[in-house]
Amino acid sequence: DDTIALSELAKRMGIKANDMIIKLMGMGVMATVNQTIDYDTAELVAVEFGFEVERAAFEEETILSTSVVDEDPSKRVTRSPVVTIMGHVDHGKTSLLDVIRKTSVTSGEAGGITQHIGAYHVQTENGAIAFLDTPGHEAFTAMCARGAKVTDLVILVVAADDGVMPQTVEALNHAKAAEVPIIVAVNKIDKPDADPDRVKRELSEHGVLAEDWGGDTIFVNVSAKSHEGISDLLDMVLLQAEVLELAANPDRLAIGHVVEAKLDIGRGPLATVLIQEGTLKSGQSVVCGMYHGKIRAMFNDKGEQVATAGPSMPVEIIGLTGVPEAGDEMVAVKDDKDAKQVSAHRVQKARARELAKNSRVTLDRLFEQM
Ligand code: GDP
Ligand code: MG
Repeated sequence: DDTIALSELAKRMGIKANDMIIKLMGMGVMATVNQTIDYDTAELVAVEFGFEVERAAFEEETILSTSVVDEDPSKRVTRSPVVTIMGHVDHGKTSLLDVIRKTSVTSGEAGGITQHIGAYHVQTENGAIAFLDTPGHEAFTAMCARGAKVTDLVILVVAADDGVMPQTVEALNHAKAAEVPIIVAVNKIDKPDADPDRVKRELSEHGVLAEDWGGDTIFVNVSAKSHEGISDLLDMVLLQAEVLELAANPDRLAIGHVVEAKLDIGRGPLATVLIQEGTLKSGQSVVCGMYHGKIRAMFNDKGEQVATAGPSMPVEIIGLTGVPEAGDEMVAVKDDKDAKQVSAHRVQKARARELAKNSRVTLDRLFEQM
């Protein structure tokens, strides 16, 4: 197990056991010479004494096969693009996504009600596209801030009668920061006061130049109302995706990210996960953020139960021990033992971090009073 006797640790570090006890007390940990302390506490106290800690005992990476670097490139096959629709409020994000889902090839057969799982996979005449339905820019930013690169492309929706607005610029900045290419959808083109040139002009002031203005950003005039330009927009997404040469290996343990998660009274924690590498199979063990679990069931965006989900597929999973956060990584592991070990280690680490934070706060307060 990951513990060491305090006296032993002090000896190895060449410091007095008493000094270590005092240091630990300052961190809010009461310990005696004969006590054993866990790895995380040992790590923290070592850092406090100016040691650089290298963790050899437990490496998540050896359990989680998250590395795709040394993977055989011949195993990688083309995957569908993952698109996030962003833009100012009321410019038509939801309407556009609704139209895209309704006009897509598969929607008719599904018989109407699509359940909300925060992500959709649509089959167009020219290829499949996954859409992330982020409730707001916060979700996107939160995911980016946590290093979760889930989006290949951003569709920036700008209403032709309203032009560039504060959240348009915000969305643009997020996309730029995340280095995700954008396609501009100039929406509400059906309106009498629509002025698509104004959108081009205003966006050019923010460094986004349309192709016919000498730039390299694709602009498509659309209307969620009349459906004009929708298929052009989808074609442009697929064209852009081709340029990006998106590929994944479906034949390995799955890696994905949580798009949305919640607690369901009857079914327990539910998480919508976008699969990015490999194929997730029902019954497999996974680690997801701080939690783990065995996949009891998976559902697609039509609410149908599925047994597997490959790259760029969003699925809702049941069976986690807790509700993860949007942006958390999900990794399939070989068995439940591995899943438990990794999540236990993560919980422990989080506790140690919390402890360190609190002890620092306490110390700061102490000094303030002096
Ligand atoms: P969101 O806040 O960006 O998701 O915007 P919504 O999709 O909710 O649309 C806001 C309003 O604009 C709604 O009343 C829509 O019916 C309307 N709307 C959206 N797209 C169009 C369009 O292409 N043409 C017209 N005339 N109205 C639209
Ligand atoms: Mg909306």
